[in-house]
Amino acid sequence: MHLHIVGNVCVDTTFRLDRFPQPGETLNAAEHADGLGGKGANQAVATARTGADVRFHAAIGNDAAGAWIREQLSRELDISHLTMLALPSDRSTVMVDGRGENLIVTGASCAKAFDPLANSDLLQSIERGDIVVMQGNLDPDVTVACLRTTRAAGAMTIFNPSPLAAGHPPDLSNVGLVIANAGEAAVLTEAAEPAEAARVLIQQGAGAAIVTLGAQGCMVAYGSGQIQRIAAPKVAVIDTSGAGDVFCGCLAGCLAAGIDLAKAARIAVRAAAISVGRAGTLQSCPDRREMKTLMETTEAETA
Ligand code: AMP
Repeated sequence: MHLHIVGNVCVDTTFRLDRFPQPGETLNAAEHADGLGGKGANQAVATARTGADVRFHAAIGNDAAGAWIREQLSRELDISHLTMLALPSDRSTVMVDGRGENLIVTGASCAKAFDPLANSDLLQSIERGDIVVMQGNLDPDVTVACLRTTRAAGAMTIFNPSPLAAGHPPDLSNVGLVIANAGEAAVLTEAAEPAEAARVLIQQGAGAAIVTLGAQGCMVAYGSGQIQRIAAPKVAVIDTSGAGDVFCGCLAGCLAAGIDLAKAARIAVRAAAISVGRAGTLQSCPDRREMKTLMETTEAETA
């Protein structure tokens, strides 16, 4: 049984400045650093830290950024399912000013062009009972086709429609579990209330739905109509970026370990809460030892 994370990866270069430059102006940053990013990579790393046998299907370019991505990712997971395209690797420039505001520019040539069914070994490596997780960074039609094909091949499909694609709502008919935050769920369903939004996501075709609720934790809606609320522990918030990816990755890893959906959501809420209490996106994700402890203690207390 394998867990396939299918999505994007990029290099985020962050510049810290007192203020943003004006058009035509050049400023020296107080600090700058490269970090691994992309929702696909964030979720793949979170998943690997649960101990899952993860296969990360994403595209990089044949360039220095691509080599750097491979080197960074290889510290966390098996990189043999990455695809190399004749395009520049995806990268973002993030400027953060003295007030903590940010400006971001992204070049996502690889994510835009990547078709996992055509360019990677996804389909050949799928086995019945595998789990496939996708996000919203690839082309929406490619994503729909991938979910359809992998489900037909016997996989359990998980879709996190983030970032939301412009235009029509996604096709959820081949989605076993959809995971959206409250804002995304409201846009997708036109239901302001999260429980109602979760019900509508199921009416739209998903087998089950999770709506994450920030400091309030999350809500799990089952195909039977049952809805369960899971509270988050109280934490002093440092940085919420990447919390949704920790949630999705951890949840998928727990399901791959055979943990049921309710317990998996409980563990994912706790893992994401830990991440908001720390700085950074990937850096804030619980490590392997912390994930193991969370999985064991939550399993034991709800057994
Ligand atoms: P969100 O994308 O904001 O819904 O957050 C995803 C998950 O991160 C939530 O389900 C919580 O587990 C966790 N989380 C986010 N914000 C907070 C917070 N302020 N306190 C505790 N946990 C949080």
